[in-house]
Amino acid sequence: DTIGANLDRAVATWPDREALVDVPSGRRWTYARFGADVEKLAHALLAAGVAKGDRVGIWAVNCPEWVLVQYATARVGAIMVNINPAYRTHEVEYVLKQAGISLLFASVSHKTSDYRAMVDQVRGKCGELREVVYIGDPSWDALLARAVPDARYEDLSCDDPINIQYTSGTTGFPKGATLSHHSILNNGYFVGELIAYSEQDRVCIPVPFYHCFGMVMGNLAATSHGACMVIPAPSFDPAATLRAVQDEHCTSLYGVPTMFIAELNLPDFATYDLSSLRTGIMAGSPCPVEVMKRVVAEMHMAEVSICYGMTETSPVSLQTRRDDDLEHRTGTVGRVLPHIEVKVVDPATGVTQPRGTAGELCTRGYSVMLGYWEEPEKTAEAVDPGRWMHTGDLAVMREDGYVEIVGRIKDMIIRGGENIYPREIEEFLHAHPKIADVQVVGVPHERYGEEVLACVIARDPADPPTLEELRGFCEGRLAHYKIPSRLQLLDSFPMTVSGKVRKIELRENHAARG
Ligand code: ATP
Ligand code: MG
Repeated sequence: DTIGANLDRAVATWPDREALVDVPSGRRWTYARFGADVEKLAHALLAAGVAKGDRVGIWAVNCPEWVLVQYATARVGAIMVNINPAYRTHEVEYVLKQAGISLLFASVSHKTSDYRAMVDQVRGKCGELREVVYIGDPSWDALLARAVPDARYEDLSCDDPINIQYTSGTTGFPKGATLSHHSILNNGYFVGELIAYSEQDRVCIPVPFYHCFGMVMGNLAATSHGACMVIPAPSFDPAATLRAVQDEHCTSLYGVPTMFIAELNLPDFATYDLSSLRTGIMAGSPCPVEVMKRVVAEMHMAEVSICYGMTETSPVSLQTRRDDDLEHRTGTVGRVLPHIEVKVVDPATGVTQPRGTAGELCTRGYSVMLGYWEEPEKTAEAVDPGRWMHTGDLAVMREDGYVEIVGRIKDMIIRGGENIYPREIEEFLHAHPKIADVQVVGVPHERYGEEVLACVIARDPADPPTLEELRGFCEGRLAHYKIPSRLQLLDSFPMTVSGKVRKIELRENHAARG
């Protein structure tokens, strides 16, 4: 199916069910109204000269129009380019040029970001950019007013490129993955299927739409099962998220681990009624066992699922199942999705490892991207001739097929010849009563090459743990070389908009401090 055909089916099946709720503005759409608004916007795009294969950018925080643009571009066969709302002029100029964007949708402003001012600065330098439409602005209404009701769509194939999604930029500069209707729609469908979405579900989406977590695991998973998308706020706000769950009776809640940690640590956490929740997804970075257990026990999310994936693979390739026991649901990222293959290889030789042995995780199937947009060399580095995507993540496949993510190859610490996986130490330190959140990175050391630095957010800033306390906690329970030799106390971690900790920055900051 194409995304447009899939939406038609949802509209025909559930016309009166709610499709979309924007909590900040109080606006609501049934599937019937949502389908009609998508249609109108699609006709307006055709009238504005947008053709199949043209790149249409969207540089906006979460709002209903984001979702309308997502479906309207899919309907006309344009390639939507998701632009990170945290970008500044230099970065947006790069994306506008690199993807050859002809029409750009943008927020007017949000918090400290004045999108209109930034567009004005770069517009003259982007030759292919013909038109900019601001959301919630007269230019949006003017675009819609151009819609011609009997406009004709071009023929589309589900293998056509439909979307360029950028990776989070956790380890370096973001890369633009080109994806098809087939890859992202199926992925969203199966993710929703495995958490048993139906038209009864209401999905709270505090993760950004610009990222695959929001637009595929959120929007596409919900609409392909008739569920409702609930937008709690334009950008992540832990209190607004829990309030939306409570007031909108959400059955499912999404987040990267740091978002769930922020919600659990709200001073008034206990006052929110979360009893409508049954499920949700934690994904994006290592999900600490302690946090998973608290989400199950304290947030009413008995069926919460962990997903593992990456932008380049639409994104999800591994997922825990509803009926998995707690150990599998918290200690692994689950098993492979239908119609996808995974293997674990020795990164040096490419030979498949026996089960139980760590190696680089590779995935193959409908979900693998068409390629990085106009970067064939980078594509060839990531996707081998056998169509296997090399993830850059180290994993162990257990005997029973469940997979544990050990960490990113780039984050591995090598101290005096010993390989150290930060994840293992982070998991261990999460159990320390004075620690709210912790990241472990390697920092240069003259003798050992690298040493272990623990960056800690204290539960009580007035009573943070000391290095001696941490070392005492680890002594006798972790091998001596893994025990952090340095401690840095922080109020927050440097984050990507998708909610991932930029370890690269933790290392740089440490170096700058000396
Ligand atoms: P960049 O590629 O630009 O450095 P990124 O890899 O963070 O950024 P994404 O595509 O958003 O960009 O994220 C994919 C990565 O997120 C995976 O390669 C993996 O390292 C991590 N990841 C995703 N889900 C999980 C999970 N459940 N457990 C552990 N790690 C995860
Ligand atoms: Mg990546």
